[in-house]
Amino acid sequence: MPILPIRHYPDAILRKKTTSIQIITAQIQEIIQNMIETMYRSPNTIGLAAPQVGHALRLIVLDVTSKEKRHGLLVLLNPVLIKGEGKKVVREGCLSLPDYTGNVSRFEHITVQAQNREGKTLEIETDGIEGVCIQHEIDHINGMMFLDRVESLKTDIFRRKRYQSL
Ligand code: ZN
Repeated sequence: MPILPIRHYPDAILRKKTTSIQIITAQIQEIIQNMIETMYRSPNTIGLAAPQVGHALRLIVLDVTSKEKRHGLLVLLNPVLIKGEGKKVVREGCLSLPDYTGNVSRFEHITVQAQNREGKTLEIETDGIEGVCIQHEIDHINGMMFLDRVESLKTDIFRRKRYQSL
């Protein structure tokens, strides 16, 4: 399976309106498989959204197992945040913005509704790094970067040392 090239900010695809996936075609399955492969092969990476690999689709993949025990590999089509509770500030990085990290306010506990790769609708409740990762990836399919969520571009953006990428 090919490793897909990562689009970097300010590539226009990262801001583009994305399309919902209605029919899971062989082409969509192939994109999913390549995204999974690309995520696992990219160092310190726990999540990836379709626009980051050049597809304006409402599709994300994640697996936070390397950081904490949660759901394992998640392939979420058309994910929607239906509930968010509590607030916390977390330091986030992004494969599409490899040289920086930022302090971002996120919900502590979330419920997300999505379809899996078989087209079945599921509802996932989670928190911790997995909850943050899902919020970060949903931002991507809404054309947002963590940069858009920091309170101050002067004090909340940092030159990268070593943090995970989402
Ligand atoms: Zn990202």
